Amino acid sequence: MTNNNAETALEKIIEKSDKCSPLTKEDLVFLLSIDDVSLKKRLFEAARDARSQHFDNKIFLYGFLYLSTYCRNRCRFCYFRNPNMASRRYRKDNDEVVEAAKRLAASGVHLIDLTMGEDPYFLDRGEKGFKKLTGLISEVKSETSLPVMISPGVVPDILLGDFSKAGADWYACYQETHNRKLFSKLRLDQNYDERIGKKYSAHNSGLLIEEGILTGVGDHIEDIADSIIAMREMDADQIRVMSFVPQEGTPLFDKFPADPQKEIQIIAVLRMAFPDRLIPASLDIDGLDGLKPRLDAGANVVTSLVPPGQGLAGVAQSELDIEEDRRSVESVKRILSDESLRVATVDEYKSWIKIRCSHVDKKTLKESVAC
Ligand code: SF4
Repeated sequence: MTNNNAETALEKIIEKSDKCSPLTKEDLVFLLSIDDVSLKKRLFEAARDARSQHFDNKIFLYGFLYLSTYCRNRCRFCYFRNPNMASRRYRKDNDEVVEAAKRLAASGVHLIDLTMGEDPYFLDRGEKGFKKLTGLISEVKSETSLPVMISPGVVPDILLGDFSKAGADWYACYQETHNRKLFSKLRLDQNYDERIGKKYSAHNSGLLIEEGILTGVGDHIEDIADSIIAMREMDADQIRVMSFVPQEGTPLFDKFPADPQKEIQIIAVLRMAFPDRLIPASLDIDGLDGLKPRLDAGANVVTSLVPPGQGLAGVAQSELDIEEDRRSVESVKRILSDESLRVATVDEYKSWIKIRCSHVDKKTLKESVAC
């Protein structure tokens, strides 16, 4: 394609995105393949415009509490996979989690993300473990008055309903890829359809859903385009991409060289494909230094703010920037003001959730809902 033709093709896709028309696989592959500097610049500018159109200059901030690093699974990319003897294991008491959640709330975050590995202590003891989790959600909700996201892995459908009753607003569960073959290589001995089904069940239980992909782990551009279409089909409310970070003690430790630029371009493409949804910039990959490029690509949520001094871990970078207090609201605020962006108010975030929930019509979940 000549440069003129490519410019025309890009403008046509931008126009479609402006009208909230679904992008085709061909459109997505085109956007993901752009490597010309001026076209890339135009793509990023359009992504920022799309964010402003739907969110003005508001950015949402998520506090992250990794409450248990135990896990029964052995995903090949993950530091916390069950057989990894090198990883740091802990399980926080509910009191410690609530304390950390209160600190995050006081610092100005909009949501508390309660994340854990598929810890048998919670998931394999029946009612006893489930009650511990739902009790934690209720307590965090009542002590902080903030929306709560729960990221517990694959859980029984009935528990998803209990999460919603306990006050959870979000269920996060990342497929990481929508290529079944790659999925089976990454998430060993896990069921692709069961994992996908949990997102539909969560919506049916009244929870908003976050779905996501991992890049740099053997995925191709077509796979990413297919993922975007799959995430649109499930009508995901928040869509994230994260780069694979090689983890000590895991089978993929020296298999894939990191390409930080790829994640940034995918964020811009996600914004074009999902102009009115939440798209995170995670501090978990490149820390605070990696925030600006992700915001420049159209992200509108900063995730993985972790309070220091409580022995809490991140996921992909278990320690980066945490004890230095660089994953804090104050540190993020400084970057936002340089970008002419601002931290939203809690009411603005709650109002987005309310409007979004009203869009989640149970009868039409399997249809794509654009804007
Ligand atoms: S990615 Fe999640 S489910 Fe897989 S091993 Fe890591 S913590 Fe467990």
